[in-house]
Amino acid sequence: MTTKPFERPVYVTQPFLPDFNNFCDCLKEIWDNHWLTNNGPIVQRYAERLGRYFETNNVCLFTNGTLALQIALQGMDISGEVITTPFTFVATTHALYWNKIRPVFVDIEPDYYTLDPEKVEAAITPWTTAILAVHVFGHPCKLNELSDIARKHNLKLIYDAAHAFGVKIEGKSIAHCGDLSMYSFHATKLYHSIEGGALIFRDSGLKKKFDYLKNFGFENEIEVVMPGTNAKMNEFQALMGELILNQIDDLISHRRKLYETYYHRLSDIPGIHMASCFSSDINYNYAYIPIEIDAGGFGISRDKLYDELKKYNIFTRRYFYPLICNYSCYRSVSVTDPLKVAKSVSSRILTLPIYSQLRIEDVEKICLIIEHIQKKS
Ligand SMILES: *Cc1c(COP(=O)(O)O)cnc(C)c1O
Repeated sequence: MTTKPFERPVYVTQPFLPDFNNFCDCLKEIWDNHWLTNNGPIVQRYAERLGRYFETNNVCLFTNGTLALQIALQGMDISGEVITTPFTFVATTHALYWNKIRPVFVDIEPDYYTLDPEKVEAAITPWTTAILAVHVFGHPCKLNELSDIARKHNLKLIYDAAHAFGVKIEGKSIAHCGDLSMYSFHATKLYHSIEGGALIFRDSGLKKKFDYLKNFGFENEIEVVMPGTNAKMNEFQALMGELILNQIDDLISHRRKLYETYYHRLSDIPGIHMASCFSSDINYNYAYIPIEIDAGGFGISRDKLYDELKKYNIFTRRYFYPLICNYSCYRSVSVTDPLKVAKSVSSRILTLPIYSQLRIEDVEKICLIIEHIQKKS
């Protein structure tokens, strides 16, 4: 195996596509129905399928995850302050802002980069109404600790599970932790419906409200009961989601092999840190390959490695750098937690390529190139 650059660019992710001919055959149903959106038959069937997958009737589908989360916060009447993480994709915080909720950023823990429960408890004020935690990279949050805090302080516990499709705890979907979980089915995610999103929730009374909110608040032809928006999933999205759901177990098991190759090759390299494997009661989804680069131990900085890898046609991403509170639009939010861990992780993190079409040989080559860059530095 050589350290010659890849002939074609290797990106951090690439959307999975189902068999083309099969997809085309299935499109016939949409043409026959002449029904493209507005709770069409495929969306209805897909919602039932997902209900069986998640083992609940409390499923609501959306055109994307961001609108799903915005509607969740609105439908649950969340207001005031919400305690959340700065180490996530920016949409987690945007969803709060669109609901005029103040984000209170607190630190993450160093093992799996999820919200630190101790910091959460310290940040509670009389205005706090909820905790919005993120299963970042698909790593389960400190579920029991967060549940205890939420119960003790009478707060809603909401999970951004955009990265966590397929993650299970003791054989049960992680979607059932907390009051509500939001999933994103964006093309770049492990599981997708082109664009798409879903809410899974405990209180079945919320379903009707979410359905109103995603469809302009229409009760019937002549009545609108609340100022909803347009966040409906369409038939093409549902069809894509349905077809990929058929293959989800294979997709995850292939990623597991890629992950194990990375782990085997990289975890012992000085200056590279990878989160340790999960306990046996967790089924992980291998959604991302985050590594931390310690410039002292590795020899070169994260940013230098990121730049060097581009010369080999390998395009990694620095998820999540910068922290959300450092984006210009959130710099005016006052942050009292020093965010020590989040700052450190954000300056060292690099996510490596992982997707269905990537082969084990490709991962071996990426690892070889990383070692090569280290040696020549
Ligand atoms: C992708 C993502 C979202 C947004 O989902 P979309 O479906 O792209 O709107 C929200 N939160 C996190 C953590 C994400 O990664």
